[in-house]
Amino acid sequence: MRILIAEDDGVLADGLLRALRGAGAAVDHVASGSEADAALMTNKEFDLLILDLGLPKMHGLEVLRKLRARGSSLPVLILTAADSVDERVKGLDYGADDYMAKPFSLQELEARVRALVRRRMGGASDSIKHGPLTYDQAGRVAMLDGRMIDLSARELGLLEVLLQRVGRMVSKDQLVERLCEWGEEVSNNAIEVYIHRLRKKIEKGSIRIATVRGLGYCLEKIPG
Ligand code: CA
Repeated sequence: MRILIAEDDGVLADGLLRALRGAGAAVDHVASGSEADAALMTNKEFDLLILDLGLPKMHGLEVLRKLRARGSSLPVLILTAADSVDERVKGLDYGADDYMAKPFSLQELEARVRALVRRRMGGASDSIKHGPLTYDQAGRVAMLDGRMIDLSARELGLLEVLLQRVGRMVSKDQLVERLCEWGEEVSNNAIEVYIHRLRKKIEKGSIRIATVRGLGYCLEKIPG
């Protein structure tokens, strides 16, 4: 899961980064509205935007308005000052999916983040099922035939992306973008290594990670 945080309060941003990285997400941070706007225009692989409304250089509402004007349906969670009912209503009118009034608990924010990402994937619960494979997003645990699989953080992230797009091809570039934050160097070769390790751990059952030659990967059920 890849998240963009636009927040100019350094202390709050640090807390958010730590909490969400701890929950297994790749998280990038910008401290102004114009940077948020630029990042959203160039990177389409974010799963969620956490947007403070009171941002320098471009107001959060303007960032949101421009995002929706480009036709993006990216889930957006806005952060508002406690007393600004007016801004909150405007934010929702402009196409925000949810809001949190400051101050808030990080635990509640994490739960709302999960709910928004889940809703985007069309799911009703925190776990994704595919054949013998179950992935619990809240607990970051994957099970195969009811048994827990021992996966590294990277392997879990990879599995999460593949499960979100079962039956569809995911390119190596997309995997890199979904798994890595800015400044993190992960090559296509490294992705191949992670895929290899993940395969060894999950391909006992009736599922496999198919290689679409030169293009990417696809998680699929083995017929029969
Ligand atoms: Ca602010």
